[in-house]
Amino acid sequence: ISWTAADGWKDRRIEKYGPLQLDPATAVLHYAQEIFEGLKAYKHADGSVWTFRPDENARRFARSAHRLALPALSVDDFIGSLAALVRTDIEWVPDGEDSSLYLRPFMYASEVFLGVRPSTEAEYIVIASPVGPYFSGGVQPVSIYVSEQYHRAGPPGGTGDAKFGGNYAASLLPQLQAQQEGFDQVCFLDAASSTYLEELGGMNVFLVTDDQKIHTPELGSILEGITRASVLQLAADRGYEVVERRIPLSEVVAGLESGRVTEFFACGTAAVVTPVGRLAGSSFDHELNGGKPGELTMALRQELTDIQYGRAADRHGWMRRLA
Ligand code: PMP
Repeated sequence: ISWTAADGWKDRRIEKYGPLQLDPATAVLHYAQEIFEGLKAYKHADGSVWTFRPDENARRFARSAHRLALPALSVDDFIGSLAALVRTDIEWVPDGEDSSLYLRPFMYASEVFLGVRPSTEAEYIVIASPVGPYFSGGVQPVSIYVSEQYHRAGPPGGTGDAKFGGNYAASLLPQLQAQQEGFDQVCFLDAASSTYLEELGGMNVFLVTDDQKIHTPELGSILEGITRASVLQLAADRGYEVVERRIPLSEVVAGLESGRVTEFFACGTAAVVTPVGRLAGSSFDHELNGGKPGELTMALRQELTDIQYGRAADRHGWMRRLA
């Protein structure tokens, strides 16, 4: 769908996948005025196709658009575009355990000019790609390196709560360095004080303590993950006290040493709920739970995927039928 300041959104269309042609002076190439979303379409046993809480993705997309001075796209256009794409060929959505059709809506500033100001033209596009299980051969705990050197976005008021391409560009170097050191993921600390846990490059983080509490960093400069919100709900349903707060890294390290922190996991659309088996930084290196997945971690993962694949009742009304 194309947007101009004069005419609003128009020209809703489905095109064969292929390269875009961009003028070298297209605004997005210079000032990174770009946002995106990530969702999955799941095929249920009766052949119907569903997605998970797309209204939340639509609302987050609108918030990201506002922060990046891009135009608002309606919830109807957002969800309608996903349904229209899936309906072009429902066979696109793979069958099978943990397989899905990944949907990537994005928007970029398409006006051709070199001045620094908001673009008066934008393009909204959705691409889709079948994906298999995130972990081949069963869920494996991941290892995480906490970066005390680099930040991915900025303090509250920055762009951390927007799903903005530039945040991901800033996370690539620390992610690469962590991988070179043998870690799977990098965890970022708050940009203002490098004291509090924030999130991974593409996942929110949680910890479980031995007093039936589940803790996660508060909102402000992190992405408001839809899996995060769902996990908070499912944990509360199980009788856990859920705590959203600033979590100092030092407290986590002490909790790992004393055994007070019993589980640590990450969550997001791509990897659902993923156990963390090792957490390390410049001055600490801890194995969690003998490197094995935590019990609550795996129970939450199972419950969430059962809802997404239609194997369990959707008691919170999270699923939306696309086809
Ligand atoms: N944080 C970041 C930085 C992310 O990119 C993602 C993935 N969208 C998440 C958290 C998790 O969000 P969600 O559960 O909505 O996928």
